[in-house]
Amino acid sequence: RLIVDHLSRSFGGRAVVDDVSLEVAAGQVTCLLGPSGCGKSTTLRMIAGVDRPDGGRILIDGAEVAGPGRHVPPEHRSVGLMFQDFALFPHLTVTENVAFGLKGDRAARMRRVDELLERVTLSGFGAKHPHQLSGGEQQRVALARALAPRPKVMLMDEPFSGLDNRLRDGIRDTTLDILKDEGTAVVLVTHEPDEAMRMADEIALMRGGRIVQSGAPYNVYNTPVDKAAAAFFSDIN
Ligand code: ATP
Ligand code: MG
Repeated sequence: RLIVDHLSRSFGGRAVVDDVSLEVAAGQVTCLLGPSGCGKSTTLRMIAGVDRPDGGRILIDGAEVAGPGRHVPPEHRSVGLMFQDFALFPHLTVTENVAFGLKGDRAARMRRVDELLERVTLSGFGAKHPHQLSGGEQQRVALARALAPRPKVMLMDEPFSGLDNRLRDGIRDTTLDILKDEGTAVVLVTHEPDEAMRMADEIALMRGGRIVQSGAPYNVYNTPVDKAAAAFFSDIN
């Protein structure tokens, strides 16, 4: 379980993340939705540990990873990242990419790699290099790599936005299935309301650094808090 407790961050005196609180249970997906510049990525960066909050706390499975006087480095947070521009290592094979963050003996690491490549339906692709794969295949390798160390929390920042529509649906479904099976708590940032409606257990609408509404997708969609929130969903049909 991920708990974000009254998180704040300012740049040059401007509050970019302003008193944001979230709770994401294991196997649940919370979508952060909101216009460009509203503070979504900054929130994820603080959860990941690559940026430090000015106020508030972050807990992962009960352990405080960020808070007053406390900063656990990213590699010790049990957090996986999947960002649009988070490229695979071009000089490594698919297997080496997926195994990258794994520790332990070789046999166990290879079992985990094989299991994940099978889950993303890329068994037999292990010896290939990223440039030999399609965009959708690369995305699935990136998913396998992010999941390999069994992170408790997965942070996804527009992970599907580089893909065409046809590919996107399939990869969304695969991703969701695996994350649910692994019991990972997920924060998914997206610009796209329909992606949020499909994938989220809970939607948190952000604006100007604050969460202006949160709840089940159906509720947020049906009873938007104001006109701007309603307009946000208007292109779904
Ligand atoms: P987008 O949908 O365009 O990705 P976002 O919601 O992810 O937007 P953030 O990247 O979190 O937005 O940025 C929020 C605001 O904070 C923006 O106005 C941005 O310019 C500002 N900002 C982000 N990082 C920094 C930084 N390191 N220094 C100064 N300002 C920053
Ligand atoms: Mg962003």
